[in-house]
Parts: sequence; structure tokens; C-alpha cells
Amino acid sequence: MHIQLIDVLSQDGQVLHREIPLELDTVEAGAERFVLSAKSPVTVDITHMSGRVLHIEARCQVSALIPCGRCLEEVERAFSVSISREVDMKKMETEQGLDEYSLITGTELDVDRMIHNELLVQWPLRVLCREDCKGICSRCGTNLNYHNCDCEKQSLDPRMAAISDIFSKFKEE
Ligand SMILES: [Zn+2]
Ligand SMILES: [Zn+2]
Repeated sequence: MHIQLIDVLSQDGQVLHREIPLELDTVEAGAERFVLSAKSPVTVDITHMSGRVLHIEARCQVSALIPCGRCLEEVERAFSVSISREVDMKKMETEQGLDEYSLITGTELDVDRMIHNELLVQWPLRVLCREDCKGICSRCGTNLNYHNCDCEKQSLDPRMAAISDIFSKFKEE
């Protein structure tokens, strides 16, 4: 959702307080897209300091589903977003293309984009469903948190693997 800044820009000292829904449904981090499983409204406070300098504060809570780095099971991870920054609207007119300023087009602040950018800053490199997640077997794909498989035993003991190969050959014949 966008917030129109014309009123707050009309006079020094003007304050704008809004509580708006977050329209963002997914976060694009790296080459992947993650679904937001929960989100609070966004509280936005904007103060016109002076001379077209805005102080912007925004807060919201979101949760996202992120696959565990070992077993790929989705983990719900909560994020607390708290943004506090100043934007000089005069500079914005002359220094276009700066990342920060792409949040504002004309006199409209793109709140979803601002929240998305902040989530990217906080985005974890890797999430685990639990500290001791056993992951999935690289040979048969079994989730080792729930089931055991025999692959590891076989690869640990090459003689056992050789014997089981012989047995499986017998079965095939
Ligand atoms: Zn896991
Ligand atoms: Zn296995």
C-alpha cells in the first residue's frame, strides 16, 4: 500500500500517523520466493522535520515459511520490523536511482517495498527446524528426523554394501 505524502509535506512540523494493512504476501530473497504465513498491520509515523526532510518510522510483525537447511521441511520464522530513517525529498529530486529513494515515487511512499527491503536485511542465511536436525538421506531421500534408512550403514561399511549388492543380484536372477 502507498501513503500519499502531500499533506505532511505541506508544512514543517506536520505529522502523519497511519495504520495500514501489509499487502505483501511473499518475500523474494536470492532466487527464491517465501510465503508470509502471518502479518500484522503496519504502523507508520511520518514527521516533516523541516525543509522537506521527512522522518519515517514503520513497525510491523511478520512470519515467513522457510525450508529447513537440512531436511527442507518448512519452518515458521518470525520477524520484527522496525524502520527509522530520514528522507530528504529535495535530494530525492536530484539523486534519483539511489536505493532508498526508490521507495518514493512522486509524493507516494511505497510501504510494502519499504517493509520488503527491511526483511531482506534481516533474512537469515540458513534456518534449521531444530538444532539437531538430522537432515535427509542423500541416497534415498528419507527424512532422518522421522525414519531411519539403511543407506548410511551400507556406505559406512563397504563390505556390507558389497554383500548386499551380491544379494540383490541373486534376487534379480
Ligand atoms: Zn530440518
Ligand atoms: Zn537412505
